[in-house]
Amino acid sequence: MSASVMMSEIPWNEYQRRIAEEDAIVFVPVGAVEQHGYHLPLGTDWMMATYMARRAAERVGGVVAPPVMYAARSQVRTGGGPHRCGTTSLNAETLIAMTYDVLCELGRHGARKIAVIDGHFENRFFLDEACYRAQRDLEARGVRDLRILKMLYAERISPETMEKAYAGVSFPGLDLEHGGILETAMMLYCYPDLVDVSKIPDEALPDFPPYDLFPVRPDWVPASGCLSSGKPATAEIGKLLVEEFVDLVSTAVSAEFR
Ligand code: ZN
Ligand code: MN
Repeated sequence: MSASVMMSEIPWNEYQRRIAEEDAIVFVPVGAVEQHGYHLPLGTDWMMATYMARRAAERVGGVVAPPVMYAARSQVRTGGGPHRCGTTSLNAETLIAMTYDVLCELGRHGARKIAVIDGHFENRFFLDEACYRAQRDLEARGVRDLRILKMLYAERISPETMEKAYAGVSFPGLDLEHGGILETAMMLYCYPDLVDVSKIPDEALPDFPPYDLFPVRPDWVPASGCLSSGKPATAEIGKLLVEEFVDLVSTAVSAEFR
């Protein structure tokens, strides 16, 4: 029998056994299909969320459901915007409905401890809504002991790690981290074959006004689609970040569910 923690890689009865006998926590990674500049793949957000979920599941005893890959609309000032080629956004209603449906199905399977791991900033409140509705409606249907934990895998970064990640460069703010040092470093550590370091852009930081415009102004966003430069990123920085985030997710899930 495969020891994989990935739901898609094990048979249904093994999945059922892990929930029933091993009290498995079911992880639901949520990401985005979104441009991340010239050097990172479009799947960066869902791939990293899934990576964190897999590592945490291996540590705390869990099963990882297939990720919700498509996600909330990319915003200009945090993700480069909804207008970019390759960025494939869902309407918020669709994301809420899809996540809600998946959570209700996991509840029907018998999962009572669910961890939604978000890897895309814009998902935040829509995932809250899906989790809220799923828990509420399952409870109304008699499932009284289901709990859902939801977090951004990068919810918190220690000052020590930030200092090492931004040694010698000024921190642009997390909003501008799209395709920047953090994501580039993490991808270099986890998926080096998918990063083309020779293509990391080094453009001027965007100077966003304190508001959004509709229709969007494409000229607000640097040509590459990155909001800051990932040039200083290294796999070593990536290791620091990733291992810290795996700890963060594992500790949070253990604190609530173990
Ligand atoms: Zn991203
Ligand atoms: Mn994103």
